Amino acid sequence: MNAPILLEEELLYEALVDPQCEAIVVHCSDARLQRAFREFTVTELGLALGDFMPLVVSGGASVLAHPERLPKEFKFMRDRLEFYRSVMPSLKRVVLISHERCRYSQALKKRVLGRGVVPEAQGPEDLRVVQAALAPTLAKLDLRAELFFARFAGPEGTQIRFDRVG
Ligand SMILES: [Zn+2]
Repeated sequence: MNAPILLEEELLYEALVDPQCEAIVVHCSDARLQRAFREFTVTELGLALGDFMPLVVSGGASVLAHPERLPKEFKFMRDRLEFYRSVMPSLKRVVLISHERCRYSQALKKRVLGRGVVPEAQGPEDLRVVQAALAPTLAKLDLRAELFFARFAGPEGTQIRFDRVG
């Protein structure tokens, strides 16, 4: 009788046991910034894996800047914040990040606002609109908002800098 042959080696990954997250971190899915988002979260926000719940959506927080014109986007985010809060009582902070040269946000604005050219300077201002729009939800959920705008930096624009805007 032949011994059974193990054709494929099974790879196992570690699950975090009972993580107590203190923050939800909302940012864009743009591949150019994923490493920067992760490193920023650890280094500047002080959040290790298991300390935060990433909420990665196209456009990041900036999709929430126009709740009256984009009610579905706004409802999507509000529903997630309410759900996460209900399953993770340790949450205290919501970190809302948008970024420069966001292709999704620009496409969205052109479609929704009907503008041909969207000035980049609107990025940080959008975050303040988002904060105001989300304020009742965050107050109800007892969550504190932190706003950051990510910019391309460095001599060749290949690095990312995060500015706190609220
Ligand atoms: Zn983006």
